[in-house]
Amino acid sequence: MSYFRPEIAAMAGYAPGEQPQTADFIKLNTNENPYRCSPAVEEAVREAVARGLSRYPDPTAGAFRHKAAEVLGIDPDWILCGNGSDDILTIVTRALVGPGELLRLPYPSYILYTTLATIQGARSEALHFHRDWSLPAEFGAGGPDLKLVFLPNPNSPSGTMISPDAILRLAERLPCPLLVDEAYVDFAETDCLSLVGECERVMVSRTLSKSYALAGLRFGYLVAQPHLITEFAKVKDSYNCDTLSIAAATSALGDRAWLAETRAKILATRQHLADGMRRLGFDTVPSQANFTWNTHPQHPVKPLFDELRRRRILVRYMDYPAWGDGLRITVGTDEQIAACLDALRRIV
Ligand SMILES: *Cc1c(COP(=O)(O)O)cnc(C)c1O
Repeated sequence: MSYFRPEIAAMAGYAPGEQPQTADFIKLNTNENPYRCSPAVEEAVREAVARGLSRYPDPTAGAFRHKAAEVLGIDPDWILCGNGSDDILTIVTRALVGPGELLRLPYPSYILYTTLATIQGARSEALHFHRDWSLPAEFGAGGPDLKLVFLPNPNSPSGTMISPDAILRLAERLPCPLLVDEAYVDFAETDCLSLVGECERVMVSRTLSKSYALAGLRFGYLVAQPHLITEFAKVKDSYNCDTLSIAAATSALGDRAWLAETRAKILATRQHLADGMRRLGFDTVPSQANFTWNTHPQHPVKPLFDELRRRRILVRYMDYPAWGDGLRITVGTDEQIAACLDALRRIV
């Protein structure tokens, strides 16, 4: 006999990418930023500590919402903050999708979406991308039991994007909200922020984990129309963001020069990575994110992953049932990517 709800007892639980606790790996497996965050962020944390931590944090993270509103050109009441964007995805799922109801995601994409549906006792439906990573027409269809659609854009593991125009047309056909997960959007050429004002069904989530080099901090946010934000706020933990993370995230968003400089470095290295992989015979999908998706027409990729790991280079091996496998490689520093390409050159 289990004490647990049947859906919890039956599920495997979400398995995040490996985080080795030793420093001797070149770590290119979880799409972290290889650079240190803005010095202004570290200073903001020190100042917050100096002010003391005996009081509860601002439950709505007002300082961050005002800064983000200024940077994004929207009003603060369009923003909800979370303990990482995973917290935002959880809040949205809990608020919109009831037991037995349906949540949709594209496939292959972020595996956590399915886990969230399962915890909720809801059903999930993974609609396959076409082989060119465009969406099937059914992605925009749906009946009354469809309550939420997730779309990572850029997508993981492909790094590809669906255009904002296509997303707006999709949202207009859907019977329910569409959450565009923009975890990687700072590395891309376009974004869907302006769609939120045009269509209330479009919502955008973002994170400071990747482009701002703050995966260890846990801060993300949702942009949606204010009447939706009010409802989502009922579902969140009272103090889901802490004093230190609010201070850090607010100053991170304020340092535009740091973001521009870091983004430029990562985009340049992404090009070296993609060129190098193609020279080695890989099929490497053009990426708008801080990673690339790589398959090889001759070599099975699992042994390549194992051999890289043996050489202390950690990339992500993904095997998607009914789709296929590949290597997702995070854009590190130029030196890390050179080492990875060099190792692959010796192996293939
Ligand atoms: C990394 C990632 C997130 C989660 O980001 P956190 O803010 O660290 O929780 C969300 N969605 C996608 C697609 C991601 O790759």
